[in-house]
Amino acid sequence: MAEVSAGKLFRRIHHLRCRERDLAAALTALPRQLASLQARHERAKKARAESADHIKHLQVTHRAKETAIKSHTGQVKKLSDQRDAASARDDFEALEREIAHARHQIATLEDEILVLLDEIDTANGKVPELEAAIVRAHTEATAFDTEMTQRKKDLEQSLTDVRRDLAERDLEVPREHVSVYTRIVAGRGPDALAPLDGLSCSACGTTQTGPDAGKVKRFAFVTCTECGCILYLSEKDEKELD
Ligand SMILES: [Zn+2]
Repeated sequence: MAEVSAGKLFRRIHHLRCRERDLAAALTALPRQLASLQARHERAKKARAESADHIKHLQVTHRAKETAIKSHTGQVKKLSDQRDAASARDDFEALEREIAHARHQIATLEDEILVLLDEIDTANGKVPELEAAIVRAHTEATAFDTEMTQRKKDLEQSLTDVRRDLAERDLEVPREHVSVYTRIVAGRGPDALAPLDGLSCSACGTTQTGPDAGKVKRFAFVTCTECGCILYLSEKDEKELD
């Protein structure tokens, strides 16, 4: 009786132990998932702030260049008046050179301003997407935070149910196998159990002896000759036996 029930029992126990591990992992992951969503929101805000700083810097540079142009233009006017009043040829030519230099500087500044305006346009064009990313990240983080409490409760409830179920199943382990079972699962958790895949242990792939595979098919207690896993018959193979 004990031998017959063992094989089926271990399939159920394996399922419960895997579920317990998954639920525990999902519970642990919740705060990390929230932190990750909140970090994304912070990164989106930072990107928007950096973009605003960049645009501001470009605008300040633009204004500085406009002011420089005004100053050079005033200079050109002043030098032109001096040149028109110059009587000596040397003075006239020196002033002509100074005027040409100032005009060249104005032209350079004007070219630089065109590039700057282009950069400002490009940066401004990216603002709506940056704003949208902030809203998106905030919405996701807030929704997750709101749902997390319930999700946590649900997971904790499922985990409690699974652990209660598992405790009941553990009590059904035949007395003569309890110590081996307890030792293996204590060290390996859900990985302590594996279905037989054909004639092989599905955990390590080792082919089992005919008598051992036969025992698994009779739902007896068998451990893998190689890795020591408790072997059980898969649901599919059990159906094929019927
Ligand atoms: Zn094995």
